[in-house]
Amino acid sequence: MSDYVKSPISGRTMNRPLLISSLIRNADRYFGDVQVVSRLEDGSIHHYTYSDCHRRARQLANALAGLGLTIGDRVATLGWNNYRHLEAYFAIPGSGLVLNTINPRLHVDQIAYIADHAEAKCVLFDLAFLKQAETIAGECPSATHFVAMCDPSQMPEKTGIPNLICFEDFLAAASDDYEWPEFDETAASALCYTSGTTGNPKGALYSHRSTMIHSYAEVMPDAFNISSRDTIMPVVPMYHANAWGLPYASALAGAKLVLPGPMMDGESLYELIEGEGVTFSAGVPTVWNGLLDHIKENGLGFSTFKRMNIGGSACPTAMMKAFREVHGVDVIHAWGMTEMSPMGTICTLQARHADLPEEDRQKLRETQGHPVFGIDMLLLDDQGVELPWDGKTTGNLFVKGPWVIDSYFKDAEGSALQDGWLPTGDVVTISPQGYIKITDRSKDIIKSGGEWISSIEVENVAQLHPDVQQAACIGIPHPKWSERPVLVVIARSGATIDKADVLAFLDGKIAKWWMPDDVRFVETIDLGPTGKVLKNKLRDRFTDGDAISKHNSPAPDALEQNHAIRK
Ligand code: AMP
Repeated sequence: MSDYVKSPISGRTMNRPLLISSLIRNADRYFGDVQVVSRLEDGSIHHYTYSDCHRRARQLANALAGLGLTIGDRVATLGWNNYRHLEAYFAIPGSGLVLNTINPRLHVDQIAYIADHAEAKCVLFDLAFLKQAETIAGECPSATHFVAMCDPSQMPEKTGIPNLICFEDFLAAASDDYEWPEFDETAASALCYTSGTTGNPKGALYSHRSTMIHSYAEVMPDAFNISSRDTIMPVVPMYHANAWGLPYASALAGAKLVLPGPMMDGESLYELIEGEGVTFSAGVPTVWNGLLDHIKENGLGFSTFKRMNIGGSACPTAMMKAFREVHGVDVIHAWGMTEMSPMGTICTLQARHADLPEEDRQKLRETQGHPVFGIDMLLLDDQGVELPWDGKTTGNLFVKGPWVIDSYFKDAEGSALQDGWLPTGDVVTISPQGYIKITDRSKDIIKSGGEWISSIEVENVAQLHPDVQQAACIGIPHPKWSERPVLVVIARSGATIDKADVLAFLDGKIAKWWMPDDVRFVETIDLGPTGKVLKNKLRDRFTDGDAISKHNSPAPDALEQNHAIRK
């Protein structure tokens, strides 16, 4: 900030800080009777209103202050998407504390690492995560207060946590008379750790200002298009990148909120969608297969569900088409990262696309979209030379914007940046109109004979095969070509499909030299804690020295030829 040019004349507008507390005050004042619905751990459904949420958030703020916590202190949560977690989303940053959402699906050592690195003083947890909370209690000296998010009757009888507090008792003993404090909008609001596949997680520390600008941007029509007429169901967990900002954007817009708790199976999601009139939802691709299967098996349809935002990993074309063409739900592809709060690009079509043939419109929908206003992009090659936005040239994507981090928590200011830009680690093409297509994560791209094969593209085509439930393409070391692609496939239950079928299906749909050297059938593919395929695990599983030579390795001549064809 400090090296910006200072004008001798300032605007004469009020310098009101952008604070998260304003969101819940707004939701209460203007949409106080709008419902917040939660699925609880026992499967029951809990209803209350934004007014109730605001009252309890004020009680929680008072209760946390009663523990002696003061501005800037970190409070960790281990929670599902539910109303108590939502209260924490407002009470903690609203009162100047920092909300440190921890992903409970991480290994307990990583959970303890995060709480310790964040120096969390207090931990709020859902009962399902008692074990994780106990680990923090044992290994994290800063954490001296633990609150179980449950009723008194549900309190665990035996626990390794001394002086465990019951959330409902904690609230009942606190007054709802609380004035949200005003402080500098650059104050930290939330600390979300990235779930990297190697090394320790790294903390993205958002501010009130960055979160508020992100919320304004998120509701825009070419972003998530959220209004007071919507019913929003964030399937993306509240422990992952602030549930993509949806709890805050919903309170800003006054939209009804439906929090699905732990139950992500097709039947439970369908029950909430139809029962509560959900109009919009968002989540990673893997979650939606169950919902698609459920409606297919039971011959069901949607009556209110109109739009869904899929991101976090590339959305398979087959999934996009099934929702859109069979069930009338517009799938909007999006890309982002924890480091970007997380919204980056969103794929809505524009007036200039209205007359395109449907096939071209579909091709466009399969891209990750164009940047939300506020995000700037740069495309560079490995030497740092700027590349053209022609929709063909692949390069490394860099971003800038008011909700993009400049360093990880506890690292030197600006240390995450290169010449002021954040390297995303994603390899993309950018069209002249600014639509990005993610080719790969830079570490997952398959480098064959000095050229790049997009694992995402190969997977996407393979997943169009009706008998393929899921496909993941990985690069396996090869003595001559450095790496060659191997396709790992989960077949649909009951399907009889073999390697030759898959290869025949791919033939002609991808470049010849992109054809996988082998197709391996598996029962399961390991997913990371945020639903992404763990490709490093897959690579370990299938790098057995001579994986390629043993299995269907094309004769060197053929490969030679394939590379020659490409050139
Ligand atoms: P995370 O910080 O865990 O949300 O992961 C961010 C990373 O997920 C990005 O850098 C991308 O590699 C990947 N990602 C997010 N959205 C998409 C998408 N729509 N298509 C492909 N990859 C995606």
